[in-house]
Amino acid sequence: MTQGKNAIITGSTSGIGLGIAEAMAAAGMNVMLNGFGDAAEIEAIRKRLAADHSVKVAYNGADMTKPDEIEALVAQTDRDFGQVDVVVNNAGIQNVQPIEDFPTAKWDAILAINLTSAFHTTRLTLGGMKARGWGRIINLASAHGLVASPFKSAYVAAKHGMLGLTKTVALESAEHGVTVNAICPGYVLTPLVEKQIPDTAKARGISEEAVVRDVLLGGQPTKQFVTTEQLGGLAVFLCSDAAASITGAALPVDGGWTAQ
Ligand code: NAD
Repeated sequence: MTQGKNAIITGSTSGIGLGIAEAMAAAGMNVMLNGFGDAAEIEAIRKRLAADHSVKVAYNGADMTKPDEIEALVAQTDRDFGQVDVVVNNAGIQNVQPIEDFPTAKWDAILAINLTSAFHTTRLTLGGMKARGWGRIINLASAHGLVASPFKSAYVAAKHGMLGLTKTVALESAEHGVTVNAICPGYVLTPLVEKQIPDTAKARGISEEAVVRDVLLGGQPTKQFVTTEQLGGLAVFLCSDAAASITGAALPVDGGWTAQ
């Protein structure tokens, strides 16, 4: 079922996107990687995934703030793989500051990368999926798509917006074999989270150890970070036949955070 399907995974040079790329390649899917990073490291990831799983793996470095580069990403995937069956909108950034001090450029960048880029990839690929009667769009929202935390105004706004986009596109494509869902992870120990620990400590006036214990894992009843492997497993499941009736959903993978 997933074998031979072609997936674009935005922001897949690191963290959750890379975990999803690993899981999708292991499930026999061809993967278009995207994201920033050291060119040699990205090429090593590309080669390793292709060799380990005998699938096609390509890379396009589109900046997800730039609509023309997103168009080029989709065009390259069409050229390299023939068609786009699955899109994982995962690229994301964070900034932790009280709203009075929040730089307007950061607000604009977070909205562009975390939300508007998904509008562009969706508008560019949904037509083909609908015409072929099969497709999967998986949007990486967050527990912060369901609930808020202080000092993350742009991120929380973008992630709540991602759920609105998910539901709307799900309704627009429900009769065409295309499902559109959002995954809402709790805290995963990726570079995105590691970078915000010092800023959160500063914004709250507490130590970095207290941030991990009380802020990050404090609200996560399992007291465990979610793993990229767990998220990769869910993303592959969403591509399966068994998940064909799951659409328009916001799926928490948060160790019980939003159950409280
Ligand atoms: P990460 O920093 O490890 O990875 C982010 C990826 O996005 C990288 O590949 C980076 O190069 C790419 N990226 C950043 N800006 C880009 C741009 N302008 N154009 C193209 N690519 C760009 O972060 P992560 O923790 O793996 O986060 C991935 C997604 O999961 C994000 O949308 C994030 O909001 C979401 N998420 C993360 C957590 C968590 O705890 N880590 C929790 C919930 C949701």
